[in-house]
Amino acid sequence: MTTLAARAPAKVNVHLGVGPLRADGFHELHTVYLAVSLFDTVTVGPGEGLSLAVSGEGADVGRGPGQVPGDRTNLVWRAAELLARHAGVAADASLAVAKAIPVAAGLAGGSADAAATLVALDAFWGTRAGREDLLELAAQLGSDVPFGLVGGVALGTGRGEQVTPVLSGGSSHWVLGIAGEGLSTPAVYGELDRMRAAGRLPEVAGPAPAEAVLAALRGGSAADLGAALVNDLQAPACSLRSDLRRALQAAGEAGAVAALVSGSGPTVAALAADERSAVGMAAELAGAGVFRTVRAVAGPAPGARLVP
Ligand code: ATP
Repeated sequence: MTTLAARAPAKVNVHLGVGPLRADGFHELHTVYLAVSLFDTVTVGPGEGLSLAVSGEGADVGRGPGQVPGDRTNLVWRAAELLARHAGVAADASLAVAKAIPVAAGLAGGSADAAATLVALDAFWGTRAGREDLLELAAQLGSDVPFGLVGGVALGTGRGEQVTPVLSGGSSHWVLGIAGEGLSTPAVYGELDRMRAAGRLPEVAGPAPAEAVLAALRGGSAADLGAALVNDLQAPACSLRSDLRRALQAAGEAGAVAALVSGSGPTVAALAADERSAVGMAAELAGAGVFRTVRAVAGPAPGARLVP
């Protein structure tokens, strides 16, 4: 076998309740992840040591904001090193990432790439790490990486890395509105802390519970899901990027059942009543002049899988 590929999905947090800043610098989360049908693909092949090539959406390789690192700081490279160390094999492989998930968009693209790398290299090196081991390695790589492995719909607790799959009663259809420039996740959390300390947002004792959105997902009604969406990072993301309010408004005007900022933003996820309205909304939002690009997607999508 010369090469193997795995793909992994982007996510939208349909519930993101953020607790207060802890002494260890993290925030406790109650989040509900929904994997959507926008995938990055990681291809692995023979090599001496590790090498990395990045292509596709956001293939701007570098160390600046919104760029994809082309070196060992890339999550793909880190995932390869971690699996090799865990399994006691030589870290020999060429790695190629084809990005469709925009970078620094709040869609967990880097985390998806790390999850796809673990799955692809586990097969390529024949390391046969069990599912629990892969989840554990994923959690070391980043809070959103375990969900990249699991996919579907899942409740995330802790920093988001403790994932429990949950049932959903059918698919939902979304239009993702992607902005020209990314937002840094730590900057958005910092703004949330500042807004809470200054009384611009209410202080909280713990993360908001996710019951309402879980019930709406089980029921399968877009209207119920739209009414239950929560994102505590939306206000700070909008505070840092005033164009996001206009983008959310544009989603409403295009007929969205509801819209929210995805994770730490700046992607806006607009919920459609059904697949047909998603196509119509995508066309309208593409012409609204508020997004760099739009994508119609559906969820839940599967987690990291080998590409046949
Ligand atoms: P987060 O997972 O922090 O919420 P995000 O989903 O908004 O982030 P990502 O696309 O994962 O955004 O990128 C965040 C940063 O991670 C990038 O700016 C980049 O510096 C770094 N990064 C590391 N590896 C990758 C990768 N394979 N693809 C994209 N970005 C990566």
